[in-house]
Amino acid sequence: MTVARTVLVTGGNRGIGFAIAEEFVALGHRVAVTARSGDGPAGTMTVRADVTDATSIDAAFTSIEAELGPVEVVVANAGITRDMLLMRMSDSDFTDVVDTNLSGAFRVVKRASKGMLKARFGRIVLVSSVVGLLGSAGQVNYSASKSGLIGLARSVTRELGSRGITANVIAPGFIETDMTAELSETQQADYLKSIPAARFATPQEVARVITWLASDDAAYISGAVIPVDGGLGMGH
Ligand code: NDP
Repeated sequence: MTVARTVLVTGGNRGIGFAIAEEFVALGHRVAVTARSGDGPAGTMTVRADVTDATSIDAAFTSIEAELGPVEVVVANAGITRDMLLMRMSDSDFTDVVDTNLSGAFRVVKRASKGMLKARFGRIVLVSSVVGLLGSAGQVNYSASKSGLIGLARSVTRELGSRGITANVIAPGFIETDMTAELSETQQADYLKSIPAARFATPQEVARVITWLASDDAAYISGAVIPVDGGLGMGH
């Protein structure tokens, strides 16, 4: 039985983040989520925060620490897409996506590391994407941001690994959420053809790998990129 931890999931009001928070609650952990709108699942503490704003991240951590104790497990899940072909992609389409997906994770991990260093314990999980490994036409911004998370996790592993802190990356494939619902039927059918598992995944299938990574059983895994993609990104 894993010890109950204080967990923070960013973007926990819907999609994969909501499912991650639900799984941690089901395992008996103390769970907070950040949300810009809406709320996390039953049994969680919801705090308003925007990962593009370091001040709001700091305030979120401060209120979670006061209510639930220092954050021991952090899941940087908040993310956006702004798809466009390279030639037509604006500077802000690129920088907004990087600011949320990569710099947002940096802000959250940096703030979380304070308490983790003190406790000499921490579990950091960054939600990347198979696209960060394979690349994707029309997603130069998103793919670059998701690849960047790998360098982030591996550098954190080298900096903080000796203090009982692990940092890992999850690379989901096609998961049924609002983000993928936006893709056209043709795009969805094309993806399906390239997935060996011949199906899309549920958010719960991602969430259960993350709760395992945060558990005591995964204490010696750090700097890893774990695919949850039905074989889509095999070999990368
Ligand atoms: P959704 O679009 O369903 O949810 C995105 C979440 O991120 C929402 O909670 C949203 O909050 C939050 N968010 C976005 N921008 C910010 C911000 N600036 N500050 C705080 N929160 C923010 O996405 P998914 O659940 O599908 O995706 C979750 C993660 O998984 C993302 O990082 C995504 O890139 C990754 N992923 C998803 C895949 C998929 O197939 N769905 C595949 C691979 C990776 P709000 O509701 O307030 O906007």
